Amino acid sequence: RTSRSKMPQYPGLDRWILVEKMGDGAFSNVYRAKDSTGEIGEVAIKVVRKFEMNSNQRANILKEVQIMRNLDHPNIVKLVDFSESRQYYYIILELCPGGELFHQIVRLTYFSEDLSRHVIVQVAEAIEYLHETSGVVHRDIKPENLLFYPTPFVPSKHPKPKQPGDEDKEDEGEFIPGVGSGGIGTIKIADFGLSKVIWDSQTMTPCGTVGYTAPEIVKDERYSKSVDMWAMGCVLYTLLCGFPPFYDESIQVLTEKVARGQYTFLSPWWDDISKSAQDLISHLLTVDPEKRYTIKEFLAHPWIRQSGEETTAAA
Ligand code: ADP
Ligand code: MG
Repeated sequence: RTSRSKMPQYPGLDRWILVEKMGDGAFSNVYRAKDSTGEIGEVAIKVVRKFEMNSNQRANILKEVQIMRNLDHPNIVKLVDFSESRQYYYIILELCPGGELFHQIVRLTYFSEDLSRHVIVQVAEAIEYLHETSGVVHRDIKPENLLFYPTPFVPSKHPKPKQPGDEDKEDEGEFIPGVGSGGIGTIKIADFGLSKVIWDSQTMTPCGTVGYTAPEIVKDERYSKSVDMWAMGCVLYTLLCGFPPFYDESIQVLTEKVARGQYTFLSPWWDDISKSAQDLISHLLTVDPEKRYTIKEFLAHPWIRQSGEETTAAA
């Protein structure tokens, strides 16, 4: 356990009591924190080291915050507050106590089709809101940026082995996605650091003067949305089998494979995964962005429409 005294102190962050570090990035640390006023409860705080950034990078942080400020969807991490000191930006976010989806894939090796559907449908609903309602493309969809709020644990058949000193404690059990009725819980898209506004939030038209927008801009907008769809294909592929569709030790070879859309449904891992799931993935991992599925087409696909009665984890 991380003790509170070991947590760093940041100027101007007096309201929040840092509890533990949850993650980090190139210029930031993310902490779980408690509200000292008790008004809000727990949050996540992304502390960004301004002093290590150039003016362009700083502007990008402000853009990230500005974009998040305008979003309101159950499957998107909410911005709670934003402030700054001389050296830091503080991005106060809705806490996702489950952490990264990435860790759950690693822990379970792979997800069943029902559990994968339960996850990807939530991601898709957030993407639909971004693409169709907010005019935002995320541009960095990946398992590390998909966080979740776990289903409340039902103390059932998975008791944690008792540790010495735990005798009086209630059985907390172990979090096993898919066990119980709620699947994994609520998936939330995080990290708008690379995201971009493609629509004017006021007029809901492609950014620029209405009627004067050039065709390549309109096309650009469609292309930029399609990058999120490609990424969703990669996420869905990874959920179902536990490894990504494109991989190589050499960055050069990997880049070549992606450029050609060179992937396979590798045997034996894909042998028992439905043809319908493979069909959906192949419409996302389509090199030509014009032919790639849009979010609407994704949501209409039979594999998505078919309801998972049981959301069970992979054995
Ligand atoms: P970066 O741009 O550095 O990738 P992120 O916003 O993705 O920054 O945050 C980095 C990591 O911090 C995430 O991958 C996740 O592990 C953790 N994290 C970020 N936001 C939250 C949150 N709201 N709740 C829980 N963990 C979070
Ligand atoms: Mg990230």
